[in-house]
Amino acid sequence: MNKTILKNLLCSSFFLVSATILAQVATVSSPDARLKVNLDVKDGKAVYSVSYDDKTMLEESPLGFKSNFGDFSTGLSLRDHQEGKEYPSHVQEKYHLNRCKVSDVDYEANVYTLCLKVGEGRRQLNVDVVFYVSNNDIAFRYEVPRHGETGSIRIMSEETGFRFPQQTTTFMCPQSDAMVGWKRTKPSYEEGYSYDRPLAETKARHGFTFPCLFKIGEDGWVLVSETGNDSRYCGCRLSDLKEGNLYTVDFPMPEEANGNGTIEPAFALPGATPWRTITVGKTLAPIVETTAPWNTVRPLYGAEQNPSKGDDDILLRTYSPKNYKFGKSTWSWIVWQDASMNWDDQVAYIDLASEMGYPYILIDAGWDEQLGYKKMEDLIKYAHIKNVDVFLWYSSSGYWNDIVQSPINKMDGPIARKEVMRWMKKNGVKGIKVDFWGGDKQETFRQYEAVLSDAYDNDIMVIFHGCTLPRGWERMYPNYVGSEAVLASENLVFSQGACDKEAKDTSTHPFIRNTVGCMEWGGSFLNRRLGRGNQRGPKRATTDCHELAQAVLFQNPIQNFAITPENLKPESEGGAPKVSIDFMKMVPTTWNETKYVAGYPGQFAVLARRNADTWYIAGNNASDECDKVLDLSRFVKKGDVVTLFSDDANSEPQRKEVKIKNPKKVKVHMLHNGGFVIVK
Ligand code: CA
Repeated sequence: MNKTILKNLLCSSFFLVSATILAQVATVSSPDARLKVNLDVKDGKAVYSVSYDDKTMLEESPLGFKSNFGDFSTGLSLRDHQEGKEYPSHVQEKYHLNRCKVSDVDYEANVYTLCLKVGEGRRQLNVDVVFYVSNNDIAFRYEVPRHGETGSIRIMSEETGFRFPQQTTTFMCPQSDAMVGWKRTKPSYEEGYSYDRPLAETKARHGFTFPCLFKIGEDGWVLVSETGNDSRYCGCRLSDLKEGNLYTVDFPMPEEANGNGTIEPAFALPGATPWRTITVGKTLAPIVETTAPWNTVRPLYGAEQNPSKGDDDILLRTYSPKNYKFGKSTWSWIVWQDASMNWDDQVAYIDLASEMGYPYILIDAGWDEQLGYKKMEDLIKYAHIKNVDVFLWYSSSGYWNDIVQSPINKMDGPIARKEVMRWMKKNGVKGIKVDFWGGDKQETFRQYEAVLSDAYDNDIMVIFHGCTLPRGWERMYPNYVGSEAVLASENLVFSQGACDKEAKDTSTHPFIRNTVGCMEWGGSFLNRRLGRGNQRGPKRATTDCHELAQAVLFQNPIQNFAITPENLKPESEGGAPKVSIDFMKMVPTTWNETKYVAGYPGQFAVLARRNADTWYIAGNNASDECDKVLDLSRFVKKGDVVTLFSDDANSEPQRKEVKIKNPKKVKVHMLHNGGFVIVK
């Protein structure tokens, strides 16, 4: 037994509730001791397993990676714990988020560093695997020191894996082929989910995009994702199922980004990989409420990045925090489509935003060709007179797809990009939506960061579309305000089939995609027909209350809602019910708290979100018409009068004041494809 390790573990045993060392095993427990990670080195391989309430959540799973100067997947052994640097054994941190599902996080975790080496003597190479274990979340990453003259590393593959118990079923979204689909823009995280599939039946040639949800029979739930990926790594995914119920971390496909750029991420030493995150719970509550994407990442700007050390202070003092305002927005493209890229229609949508009290309009693809820069300056001035600020659309490309929707070739290189950014700042443009990205390679992640960084310098917020999953970016980048990375609202406009399954999607994403980051869905339609004038186009299958609930169930700090000028007409002329319009005026876009209430992916979802002192308890239903009895005692008291938005028997929205009799048993009625919102 290694004395230093033993000493270290004894010192930290107050925090590591059951830190034990048997041969070369360590167990890291969560502060509440329910979640446990067992670490071991066996036959030169590092492995871990996970249990919750003593039920196995992950069986013995591999750790390690292969790099260009050493194989860290085999021939591993433990080394002295204190060799090199000091590690904490426990962290407690309060931090603030200003545009997520939660605003104030009290993060507490036990920390253990598995200090490994390969080789001996002058050939010895070191790597540390750092585990943060909080009550329902595990985050771990590889940290690599500088090795003599070697000051950089290229990771060639990760062994990192997740081996599930036999009874596990999956809720996953497959990764697309590369360079296929509309103008060869895939992959862009826009594939469909499968539900409750046995492991053996969950196969996909290119694996699965994060986050991936697993149900461990009756024992609980596991959500696997990653966070902290920036210009210093690529975006990863889960592999196809391998022998022994194992999924491993996979890198992008060589064909992505038009075949340009490596799939092997590289970073300078000392350095680290992104965090692999595993969220575990007996119910779906810890999955819905997880803060795993933000706990272990740091803001990339300013004094929060690094405590001041000497001369660095001079640089840090150049940083001044900026005040980005989040909120609601209109956009014409989603219903009125390409033909609406003209002065009159954009004015109609600015007026709509103004009437609704929304701070923003998003002016989508084609503005530079249909309106031009000069007219756009005038349009922005008009918007400002109406108290509305402007987001402008850009293509990200570039060489990585065949997109013709313009502006193109503005965001792909620094000279043109900085030029349009300066023009936007001069004209008071507050945000951009950058669409059609090239996949998950490190090259593309550098591009994401370059756009965010130049936009930051010009006080511009950034929404990504046709893009990868955000990975902790709400905390890392102050001007990051949303990503699509989902088969989103545009598909409803394109096909009746998508409308018919909208409720299924709406009751899926609150439990998977949207739990780990902003999701720019662009929905909450009030048109009955998804075409201009409300007379043509696919028929919406959902009730108004379903769409109202969606505005709460889907979280993004800038919500581009799919309402139209025709919704403001009198109801007798085809306008939307006043109840719906009133709700869309009042609903906020940022939240102080988010709680799981009830639901099951693809069937129904009920969440409670708090903005300041007001709770919004929203539910939707993709299943048959039903009554649900909900325990709302965390949000309302006996005798409280709440406002209930719900469907009447004719699917029309109604608003009622309701007195709560028993907060533990509040009965709500939901139609098929219906929904409700309780506001207190
Ligand atoms: Ca899209």
